[in-house]
Amino acid sequence: MLRLPSFTYRQPTSLKEAVAMKADAGPEGMYVAGGTDLYPNMKRRQQMPATVISLMGIPELTAPVRRTGGPADGGIVIGAAITLTDLSACPAVRQSACSAVAHAAELVSTPLLRNMGTLGGNLCLDTRCNYYDQTYEWRKAIDFCMKKDGHICWVAPSSPRCWAVSSSDVAPVMVAIGAEFLLVGPAGERLVPAARLYHNDGINYLTKQPDEILAEVRLPRTDGWDATYHKLRRRGSFDFPVLGAAAWVRWDGDQVADARVVLGGVASRPQEVPEAGAALKGRALSDDAIAIAAEAAYRPAKPLDNTDFDLSWRKQMTRVYVARALEELRRRRR
Ligand SMILES: Cc1cc2nc3c(=O)[nH]c(=O)nc-3n(C[C@H](O)[C@H](O)[C@H](O)COP(=O)(O)OP(=O)(O)OC[C@H]3O[C@@H](n4cnc5c(N)ncnc54)[C@H](O)[C@@H]3O)c2cc1C
Ligand code: SF4
Repeated sequence: MLRLPSFTYRQPTSLKEAVAMKADAGPEGMYVAGGTDLYPNMKRRQQMPATVISLMGIPELTAPVRRTGGPADGGIVIGAAITLTDLSACPAVRQSACSAVAHAAELVSTPLLRNMGTLGGNLCLDTRCNYYDQTYEWRKAIDFCMKKDGHICWVAPSSPRCWAVSSSDVAPVMVAIGAEFLLVGPAGERLVPAARLYHNDGINYLTKQPDEILAEVRLPRTDGWDATYHKLRRRGSFDFPVLGAAAWVRWDGDQVADARVVLGGVASRPQEVPEAGAALKGRALSDDAIAIAAEAAYRPAKPLDNTDFDLSWRKQMTRVYVARALEELRRRRR
């Protein structure tokens, strides 16, 4: 049985107190929300914080989902410590164009993990790789890798960077719909577009400072757009995505006024494919347009041999999953 290392556990009751506790703990401190990712990582000695600061007793992070702008089509504000179960069941999110967010949340792992796992934890989820998601002894047997304790990348041995994969289901949807994240840290608050939270680097995969807390997620007004998310994984009831396809379309009658296609599981961050969105703009969502966009998404998608399934098959599935996502949006429009 894998055991947790010993650590100090702190329970702040406000954002300010949490930020101060993190400053006290320094680089040896980490935030935890549901712990469904951090605690397994600690058991495998991938992450070894001496102090763990819980975000679950902070009212600002657990406040009920609310609308901005008053009327029914205002944006939606969600505290980052909402559980994935509550998020996927939330009527305000389900019954709007933002339903893709609820859908992605309900596709994460299992009911038990969704009862504990939070939105904030999902959006800040550590990147994954077959050579990293192993016990300490397994990793030691191969002399570790550069993401933790070693010097080499076993996926691309001559690479100066880590290629571990962004495996969050909700993050690609947030990027596709243009959500914004409120970060709170020692220097105050800042609002960042979802895409700007992520770096394409398996080690430094977030642009936020370690002391900053992802406090709120702001979903945009639902004014004429629609979005969806399709997920590829081995076991439909359990597994991480090996490919996620999020598609967002702004409609102008039957024409696509604007579009975004964002892939999960193919890079160290949710990867937007601008060529796919561009291929759809200014035309009807015809079979031809969908095929061109799916092809455009397929070309730059470069999955590596560090997650489940054969990588060339995963690449081919990009075309299939993007097409399916766009076909779903077309069906819903009719
Ligand atoms: C068996 C298994 C299957 C899984 N399957 C999936 C899957 O299919 N799809 C998927 O997306 N995930 C999956 N997960 C990962 C995980 O359960 C979810 O992503 C979950 O939402 C993580 O949330 P959490 O609150 O438990 O995160 P935690 O473990 O608490 O935190 C994760 C990371 O985020 C940081 N963090 C958490 N909240 C904040 C915040 N508000 N501000 C700043 N930093 C924060 C923590 O410091 C930590 O680095 C799986 C996990 C397991 C064990
Ligand atoms: S991509 Fe390379 S460096 Fe990164 S976790 Fe995998 S083996 Fe390690």
